[in-house]
Amino acid sequence: MANVDKNLFPPETFRETDPQPQQAAPPAPHAVGPLYAALRRRFEAAGLPDAATTASQLLARAAEVPPLELPLHYRDTLPPGVLRRLLSAADRVAAGEPPQYVIGEVNFMGLRIKTDPRALVPRPETELLVETVLCDDIISRRPDARIADVGTGSGCIALALAAQLPKATIIATDIDTAALDLARENAVALGLSARIEFMAADLLDGLPAGSLDAVVSNPPYVPSADYLRLPGRIRFHEPRRALEAGKDGLDIIRRLIPRAAQALSPGGVLFLEIGSDQSTHLKALLQNHGFGAILVRRDYQGVERIVKAVRCS
Ligand code: GLN
Repeated sequence: MANVDKNLFPPETFRETDPQPQQAAPPAPHAVGPLYAALRRRFEAAGLPDAATTASQLLARAAEVPPLELPLHYRDTLPPGVLRRLLSAADRVAAGEPPQYVIGEVNFMGLRIKTDPRALVPRPETELLVETVLCDDIISRRPDARIADVGTGSGCIALALAAQLPKATIIATDIDTAALDLARENAVALGLSARIEFMAADLLDGLPAGSLDAVVSNPPYVPSADYLRLPGRIRFHEPRRALEAGKDGLDIIRRLIPRAAQALSPGGVLFLEIGSDQSTHLKALLQNHGFGAILVRRDYQGVERIVKAVRCS
């Protein structure tokens, strides 16, 4: 048991089923337990911030079991073809590809969202954006709301809203048609394609004035200098146009605010994901364009991340 990883395979895991562990034959080097430990060590050495989670996700997918059930399969060996695919996936991760692209999907608000380089990997902060919309008074009072997700990317925001708000109309726009294709594929896979209108458009182009109850967006907001300091895992693999937005990171948001003011009906709400240190500047921008009741919410790291503003009547 000495080599067994402490987090995923604590010694007591096997005590009941294996009354004499010291006499049991060690698992084969390519069994699930030793593979997990080896992958984890390799990802740690490659500087992955979440090496343990990534190791268990890759392995669980290869073994076709839920990650939390991996310890039950400690001694199982993988068929040679499965093992080869696992090791080549591990090579890609160790070489710097985002694990979410290699795994090919993420869980976002309980939905399986397919991920590939056509769009940004959905992030936990963006779940907070969706939760803010879902918990909003104005939205809950208007079940048939018309909501636009601007720059939908993988479609994660639009899909989560469509899944949670069965009577709402959801419009998803993106200027990038490849990203929009991915969003459509996700909608089909989740059985939500009839619920979302996809539009290849810059921001809210093509939507009539006053036609929306809410605009939601996770736009690019990373300042150019910060973009250059992002880890290679992000910078060399995720689409730059979904991240970088000029000197102060506000190039897209500055264009979006007046368009949202126009497309929203009076009393309609704008929800934005933003970068750290942007909220003060943003409040002024929003007020200048007729928005009020501005609220800022912090993310799990305590960073101001979500802004909500109501279009004054
Ligand atoms: N939170 C993302 C990052 O820092 C940025 C997302 C965005 O620009 N919309 O990688």
